[in-house]
Amino acid sequence: MAETFEEKMAAMAGMSEEERANKIEEVKGVCKNFCGNCPSYTGTGETDYGFCATGKSSKITEEKGCLCPGCPITGAMSLRWQYYCTGGAARELSAAEKK
Ligand code: SF4
Ligand code: SF4
Repeated sequence: MAETFEEKMAAMAGMSEEERANKIEEVKGVCKNFCGNCPSYTGTGETDYGFCATGKSSKITEEKGCLCPGCPITGAMSLRWQYYCTGGAARELSAAEKK
């Protein structure tokens, strides 16, 4: 069975700060093609990416559709949410489910 997001995060726990930073840059590079073309993103003045990893956007406030389900990071990390730009990073959404 495929590993869950939580299992994948646990497996990445031993990463160094540098490895973590590189990973986030990699996510942002992929994200550009998805969040960057998303109706909730365009026209907001947002220029950053990778909300599933870094958390909410300070500029995106309206949910007008989300392209995360089609993004390869969703499959790679077994992400099961969307609208990270308004809802927060995947690890925050995972933690909120446990409350
Ligand atoms: S997280 Fe989803 S809704 Fe937000 S900008 Fe990215 S694709 Fe669009
Ligand atoms: S899952 Fe969404 S927020 Fe994360 S990299 Fe892909 S498009 Fe961006």
